[in-house]
Amino acid sequence: MLNVPSQAFPAPGSQQRVASQGRSKVPLKQGRSLMDWIRLTRSGKDLTGLKGRLIDVTEEELKAHNKKDDCWICIRGLVYNVSPYMEYHPGGEDELMRAAGTDGTDLFNEVHRWVNYESMLKECLVGRMAMKPAVPKGMLPKSQVTDTLLKEGPSSPSHDWFQTESSVTIVIYTKQKNINLDSVVVDLQDDTLRAEAVIKDHSYLIHVGLSHEVLENFSVRAIENVGKVDIVLQKRENISWKCLGHPLEKHDSFIPKKDTGLYYRKCQLISKEDVTHDTRLFCLMLPPSTHLQVPVGHHVYLKLSVTGAEIVKPYTPVSESLFSDFKEPVLPPNKYIYFLIKIYPDGLFTPELDRLQIGDFVSVSSPEGNFKVSKLQDVEDLFLLAAGTGFTPMVNVLNYALTSMSSLRKVKLMFFNKTENDIIWRCQLEKLALKDKRFDVQFVLSEPSSEWNGKQGHVSPALLSEFLQRSSENSRVFLCVCGPTPFTDEGIRLLHDLNFSTDEIHGFTA
Ligand code: FAD
Ligand code: NAP
Repeated sequence: MLNVPSQAFPAPGSQQRVASQGRSKVPLKQGRSLMDWIRLTRSGKDLTGLKGRLIDVTEEELKAHNKKDDCWICIRGLVYNVSPYMEYHPGGEDELMRAAGTDGTDLFNEVHRWVNYESMLKECLVGRMAMKPAVPKGMLPKSQVTDTLLKEGPSSPSHDWFQTESSVTIVIYTKQKNINLDSVVVDLQDDTLRAEAVIKDHSYLIHVGLSHEVLENFSVRAIENVGKVDIVLQKRENISWKCLGHPLEKHDSFIPKKDTGLYYRKCQLISKEDVTHDTRLFCLMLPPSTHLQVPVGHHVYLKLSVTGAEIVKPYTPVSESLFSDFKEPVLPPNKYIYFLIKIYPDGLFTPELDRLQIGDFVSVSSPEGNFKVSKLQDVEDLFLLAAGTGFTPMVNVLNYALTSMSSLRKVKLMFFNKTENDIIWRCQLEKLALKDKRFDVQFVLSEPSSEWNGKQGHVSPALLSEFLQRSSENSRVFLCVCGPTPFTDEGIRLLHDLNFSTDEIHGFTA
């Protein structure tokens, strides 16, 4: 809802969305870019009409502010006057008006809960809801949380701890089989331990100030068949602990993932190299006391400060193992995250990212996403349709397919780009196709030079029918689609027309 131009740009149904056949963009009005908004918020202008006063807002009062030129919205208990922001909202005024005069928290969470509206709308803050503050569910007494979950979600995990002379082990009983190391993110900072386990669509959080000091290095083990996770901390001193520590915010909470905020840690830029004329491979190093593995097909959010405002954009890490020759020397696994990122000279975030020097820091969120590798179980033919940087989720899917899918017979990538110069890792893909007979790649260009004798055009029934040849008539198939939103929408529509079912298709979006 309160978005910066990003993933679903222009947002579905917005006034900027493509007119005919989903292709041409209708820009925001002149002088209404996000950068213009940031400038306006810095100008000192009174954007709430309250001269900086913060008030307690009743439900009746909130309801009364429901017009474009007088529009208040409540998000997570705070009320904003969004009228001044209307013309700057990339999703369009209508999308904002859906929440006019109401609590828009659910709508906001649905569309993009990761957007740091607190920073974007700081100057529009009217006050707090007086009667019914929207208390985050994780702050409720445990019994209440559990009651809600009993009706709606998986059963609540629990935790325990034990110690030896030199170590403290925290055990999370997830009550869920097949839990793995991707499902747990652990951050240890100044003796504060934060461990989040994602169980189905819920998040279980352990958040404690440890009672004694521990060493920076710790280990995490997942015992998959019993659904148990062990976090083993090393004591700094060999003394007996009387308790684990004191609970911090949302400790021991189990809430739907969509209701949690994003947690960031600072990662250092280790290297940056050109992959194409406008796309670079960024390598970021996780802090030594973080355990974070991004599941296949998931993404993270990167956060930077752009002229004083915090800007957040999603990016999909790519694995370093598939194209092993892209990085020398090979760095230890799980401590580094690689990203293929296209720099848009007139973009808001990427030029700033590109300006970072080796050694600078970027905030990286915990992983998000709804792709499930379980969907690939028993799949024999996997088809990947990617456009531009929509190739990024395909890298890890491809890696997973070739290394972990015993049923796989064929994986085919159709990669759409404007020109030959835009093709990411063309050489590596061609080499891989030569090396592994199960893999095929086809490049399609929308703006080919006269020398190009490969396929050209846009995603179309003709291109797809030729590409989607199964290895046998009734083979089990799965298809992934990712690129600019209109490309993804069109690809999925065409696949449905070709009689593939919803269960057989995954479209990557935020
Ligand atoms: P923006 O400011 O968003 O601008 C992008 C382009 O749109 C520019 O050319 C700009 O001029 C144009 N534009 C902006 N606003 C308007 C307007 N109002 N009217 C007309 N044109 C406009 N990208 C990657 O490179 N690598 C990834 O791994 C990756 N992963 C992603 C994962 C997910 C889940 C999603 C949703 C997106 C991903 N993206 C990825 C895209 C990324 O999040 C950003 O959208 C992208 O980097 C552009 O950011 P920017 O702020 O630099 O550009
Ligand atoms: P691009 O270079 O602009 O386009 C790549 C190819 O897609 C071009 O051939 C382009 O044709 C074609 N295309 C664009 N819109 C189309 C449409 N409506 N129908 C058919 N073909 C279309 O792409 P990019 O700049 O790299 O952008 C990549 C996009 O992928 C971004 O929007 C990014 O947000 C998204 N992405 C999403 C995820 C995710 O959701 N997980 C991950 C990574 C990237 P033309 O020459 O005609 O434009």
